[in-house]
Amino acid sequence: MESKRSTTDERAGQFLSRIAASRVLPSLPQVLLKLIEACRNEETTIREIAQIVNSDSALSGRILGIVNSPFYRRAEKIVRIDDALFHLGRDAVRSIAVSASIHQVFSRVNGQCPFNMKLYWRHALLCAVLARRLSEKTTFKAPELSFLSGILHDVGRVVLWVHFPEEYGKVLSAAGNRSELLLEGEVRMGITHAEVGSWLLARWGLDAFTADAARYHHEPLERIHSAFPLVKIVYAANLMADMPDSDFARYKIIRELFGISFTDITDMLAAAQEEVRELAESLGIQIDPVDPQHQPLDETDEEKKDTLTGQVRDVALLQAALQGLTEAIDREAIHKAARQGLEILFGTPAVLLFIHDRDRELLVLQDTGGSRLPPGQELTIPMGRNESLPVQALTRKAILGTLERRDRGALTIMDEMLIHLLGGEEILCLPLVTQKERVGMFVIGAERATIQSLEAESKLLTLYGDQVAVALRLDQMRRAQSRLYQAGRLAASSALARKVAHEVNNPLSIIKNYLKILGMKLGVDNVAQDELRIVNEEIDRVALIIRQLTDLTAEKERVRQAVDINGLIRDLAVIIEKSFSAASRIRFHLDLDPALPGLVTDRNGMKQVLINLLKNAIEAMRQGGNLFVRTKFLVSKDLEEMAGKPNGKAEQTLEISVRDDGPGIPESVRQRLFEPYVTTKGEGHSGLGLSVVHSIVKDLGGTVQCESAEGRGTSFVMRFPLNGSVKKA
Ligand code: ADP
Repeated sequence: MESKRSTTDERAGQFLSRIAASRVLPSLPQVLLKLIEACRNEETTIREIAQIVNSDSALSGRILGIVNSPFYRRAEKIVRIDDALFHLGRDAVRSIAVSASIHQVFSRVNGQCPFNMKLYWRHALLCAVLARRLSEKTTFKAPELSFLSGILHDVGRVVLWVHFPEEYGKVLSAAGNRSELLLEGEVRMGITHAEVGSWLLARWGLDAFTADAARYHHEPLERIHSAFPLVKIVYAANLMADMPDSDFARYKIIRELFGISFTDITDMLAAAQEEVRELAESLGIQIDPVDPQHQPLDETDEEKKDTLTGQVRDVALLQAALQGLTEAIDREAIHKAARQGLEILFGTPAVLLFIHDRDRELLVLQDTGGSRLPPGQELTIPMGRNESLPVQALTRKAILGTLERRDRGALTIMDEMLIHLLGGEEILCLPLVTQKERVGMFVIGAERATIQSLEAESKLLTLYGDQVAVALRLDQMRRAQSRLYQAGRLAASSALARKVAHEVNNPLSIIKNYLKILGMKLGVDNVAQDELRIVNEEIDRVALIIRQLTDLTAEKERVRQAVDINGLIRDLAVIIEKSFSAASRIRFHLDLDPALPGLVTDRNGMKQVLINLLKNAIEAMRQGGNLFVRTKFLVSKDLEEMAGKPNGKAEQTLEISVRDDGPGIPESVRQRLFEPYVTTKGEGHSGLGLSVVHSIVKDLGGTVQCESAEGRGTSFVMRFPLNGSVKKA
């Protein structure tokens, strides 16, 4: 160990002799030495210092420049050095003089890559300023000596670079800007910049403390504890000057050495950065701009960082939440994924999803995901003039909650109902809107504290709501498109059907005529009469099929009259129950709204529609099951009154639904449900039933929608608007 140490010392000695022998060794300007000496002496007056400064025109120019710079922001211009000194104070003058002179010494150094002169200067000035500020915090009251030691602590690096550009260049390139790597490289080379620096400073005749501060500024921390204050100060200043943000280990060292708080360190660093920038500008020293990644943290940075972290977290969460949404293939899956996403993001399971029904101007509650609504009930909230929160939120496209409505009296009955339904203390309404469309609404229910924290996440909530809205809207558009496509195909087949009917009916009637003539010729007793009857019946059957085909066309004249729909359903149920369901263990459930008004419609058409739907349901439930037929009279006015605000215009709708709990419709059929010739039943089934239903309902001014899930039954809901057509049946 001992011998190793002496060989390193020997090598270092060789380096130093080579430096000493060289003629490029920088020397300190006389004026600086005089200034340092003068300032060290407490007796020296401002006038004497001014005299020294005045002897160097470059230096006096600099000082006047600085005192008149925006850094000091003075009203009138200062032209005399005495005045400048008076304004700046002798300490500042000496700092300026030192920086300017040192810079002058090294100004001709080639600061090309890998030696970054600008970076060097920023670090040197920052160390100097920090050392001065640190010294002011300690009992070691020698701010200017600290400044000088700070600015010179790394001078060994310049010397090594100037004298051994090749060797030291390699060390610099390998180290980049990592100081521990630089030291390792220097040790391998044979001498460190700390050793060279302290040697040079001693040679320049600067005091031993300054030389020692340079010598020990990379020493292990435990050795620093017992060192003289100036060593500690420069050590700490060096550490702070290249302190990466949030390097708490370094903050801790500085706190340990000087007993100053984290906030004070941060403040000091920020103020020092600013001072260095101004100082460098005034002195005409080019420094490297502060690397934004190594900026000390101030409060706004903290905020920015928080926002950024928040955003990164939001994006990650959002992606997880949206995963399900992008993979959902149909409406049901989208609803489920949307609800799950809310749970992933905010842990809110109590949620109702409403879809905005644009035609009826209603918010319609979708599958409640296990909440407490009685089964089969439709919960709707009329849009229009309505003070309830969901409507307000959707209209204004803004998140609204009951929390803001401190005055509970301001809540509508609808709001209160929603709170009860969701079983929490408050609700929050998140509108699902795209740029153009109001698609729907999430109503989230929870305890007060949860809602409060949700409101704080309004940005993320909105972001999520927008995504759900897009997914829902896309699905709606897909459906609309497929309906259009179906309607198009239907129209095409209707046209074909009419043509075929026309072409076939002519020869059929000719054949029937000939059969009649043939029967007459053969005589009533002829044995062939029976066969003729069969042929006749078959031709009638063909004619019937042709007629059914033409039912698809919407051009038929329909006889309209006020029809008692409930009565019609009761009659049909009796007939159907007798003919079908006794054998097939089907149970009928009728839920007929007594308030249902008569509907002006085509009785036969309506009958045919109902028969087709009921027949399909019964045929589907081979193992037996339940068949629900429900009628309902919907008046939007009543609902609005319930929600607290009546709207003069009442919209009335008659709704008929036929629902079974059978096997459901296979996906392949569901996609083309209302097209003709789609059947899974084989022999004896034309696959025309539902296309006839669709065509008649449309013809009668209504709509028909099918909801079906494999294994979970099927429901057909028809709605007929009653605009002006209401008559008491
Ligand atoms: P068809 O009854 O002649 O097959 P439809 O147009 O009436 O023609 O029905 C088309 C297909 O739709 C049926 O073959 C059946 O697969 C399916 N379907 C209709 N209603 C139901 C229902 N309630 N339950 C299950 N499947 C049904």
